[in-house]
Amino acid sequence: MIYLDSAATTKPSETCILAMDSALREHYGNPSSLHSFGLDAEQTAERARKQIAAALGCEPSALTFTSGATESNHLAVRGAAAVYGKRRRRVVTTAVEHACVRAAFDRLEEEGFEVIRVSPREDGRLYAEDVAAAVDDSTCLVSMMLVNNETGAVLPAAEAFAQIKREHPDVITHCDAVQGFLKLPFTPEKLHADLLTVSGHKVHAAKGIGALYHKKGIRLKPLLTGGEQENGLRAGTESVPLIAGFGAVCAELSGTAAARYEAVSVLRQTAAELLSAIGGVTVQSPPDGSPYILSFSVKGLRSETMLHFLAEREIYVSSGSACSKGKQSGVLQAFGIRQDAADSTLRVSLCAENTAADIAALAQALREAQVRLVRKR
Ligand code: PLP
Repeated sequence: MIYLDSAATTKPSETCILAMDSALREHYGNPSSLHSFGLDAEQTAERARKQIAAALGCEPSALTFTSGATESNHLAVRGAAAVYGKRRRRVVTTAVEHACVRAAFDRLEEEGFEVIRVSPREDGRLYAEDVAAAVDDSTCLVSMMLVNNETGAVLPAAEAFAQIKREHPDVITHCDAVQGFLKLPFTPEKLHADLLTVSGHKVHAAKGIGALYHKKGIRLKPLLTGGEQENGLRAGTESVPLIAGFGAVCAELSGTAAARYEAVSVLRQTAAELLSAIGGVTVQSPPDGSPYILSFSVKGLRSETMLHFLAEREIYVSSGSACSKGKQSGVLQAFGIRQDAADSTLRVSLCAENTAADIAALAQALREAQVRLVRKR
């Protein structure tokens, strides 16, 4: 089995599984309980909070646990707009965000906010100055991702947020950093982000756990109420096992980000070369994007057809964004990719466990797909 879909989700690491197992078996108290067994569970969660904070480069108290990036993004966008958007009714985002951020802004639009969605220019690149130019005195919030999940494009969030903070210090900045966390070097402070989203299952932890970083002093209206957990920002008993697993992964991986980046860069280069050598294949990811994601189109073959052809050979890739279940998000088109190319796009996303042999097998299977499927039509 060759797994090339790590941007959709990753294989939980052994360290994560062991930490979860121990939390489930031995630390199953309710962290809010006042007895010592509750305290034990709380300490397990707090240890993990410290591990995640250390990996992110922030204070542990700046992190709120959530069920994943979708919830973190909604809490950030809708929670900040509810507090800071009473008079300033304009909010700014980009046209290439993940579906969950787009949905959060759609909700704000329904509530009467003016939503500005900044698109990439004709060259397919999103410019920091275009995002900053969309911000005016009536703006309360800007949200911009760090790494695009469909193409791997690295967005100039740091430059945009720095300019926005210089020109409009009261504007709240949020970054969906899901595809950059533990892969690219950044801290919320270096990005000038007041709010920042990360997700566990994209970094070899389990599904159902994420965190939202919020800078000290930033207020948010909670989405979930009815409990004082997470400083009143997110009611509901914390999932200590999921949190423990996420923390363990962060401790495991935070020291190896640079080495993994190097290894994955070599793989991506190999993949780009091998795939480009196949007739009809066009690499769509920008050369200066994250090496973890490679998007390409195969002329004359539909994404779903190729995806199933590869899956029959136990090679797992994605057609566009996995969250959209085969439905197109429009993000590739926003990056300037033509509709026919978007219809035949595959996304390969890597992790450090992938090998050159995985890439060679993918290239071989694609050549085969061209011969078999193109001839059939
Ligand atoms: N944001 C980005 C950039 C993503 O790639 C994803 C998942 O694909 C999400 C948010 C949603 O993450 P989660 O599954 O943790 O809700």
